[in-house]
Amino acid sequence: MILLDRVTKTYGKNSNKSALNRISLHVEPKEFVIIVGTSGAGKSTLLKLLTREEKPTSGKIVVGGIDYDTLKDRHIPLLRRKIGVVFQDFKLLPQRTVFENIAFALEIAGMTGHEIKNTVPKVIELVGLSGKEKQFPHQLSGGERQRVAIARAIVRQPKILIADEPTGNLDPKHSWDIVRLLEKINKYGTTVLLTTHNVEIVNKLKRRVITLDHGKIVSDQAQGSYRQ
Ligand code: ADP
Repeated sequence: MILLDRVTKTYGKNSNKSALNRISLHVEPKEFVIIVGTSGAGKSTLLKLLTREEKPTSGKIVVGGIDYDTLKDRHIPLLRRKIGVVFQDFKLLPQRTVFENIAFALEIAGMTGHEIKNTVPKVIELVGLSGKEKQFPHQLSGGERQRVAIARAIVRQPKILIADEPTGNLDPKHSWDIVRLLEKINKYGTTVLLTTHNVEIVNKLKRRVITLDHGKIVSDQAQGSYRQ
């Protein structure tokens, strides 16, 4: 499903330091993988390579059967359909309601109004926001905003959900709500990649943990813990 073979990413032509240095990684469909590492370790770079925001300097990337070496720019939307992304700062549209924020992802994909009316309530229910459809982001708690962002990321049923520090702005209770939601989405069959600095979450989840340090994978444990 996700394959990286000796991937190196160096920003800028003359940099002698690589953000990622010959990383090899294999993630199976439906896995739940946590990626940890101190700031600057290369986590964001890894995620940006997967979403094709950045291109590797060398090495091979294949995601869901798509070989990035032969991927044409015009096919990038197809790739992005397979990968949903949520961020620490939610990135919601402030002037749009919960329903409209989620519907927007379908509008730009060319879905009809009828299909949108059918699909959005289902995902709102899945993330536990029924009754909040007409609220605006500023009327929601941080945890609820992140639920909207997650709903928007999964409404087109991507194969992979990337959650980049999704609990970074949340208190412990809301953080756990979001993590449980990610687990639920994973149980329904979506591969989840989660980056976090939250030691408690990493240690309690008992999932595969990949630790990056200075652009290298320094450990990859099946039921891993946070090693600082
Ligand atoms: P993390 O997400 O683990 O904090 P990053 O992937 O953001 O790590 O960064 C890895 C390294 O690459 C750091 O040394 C960082 O300064 C560098 N880096 C990240 N993005 C850029 C960029 N756009 N241009 C130049 N250097 C970058």
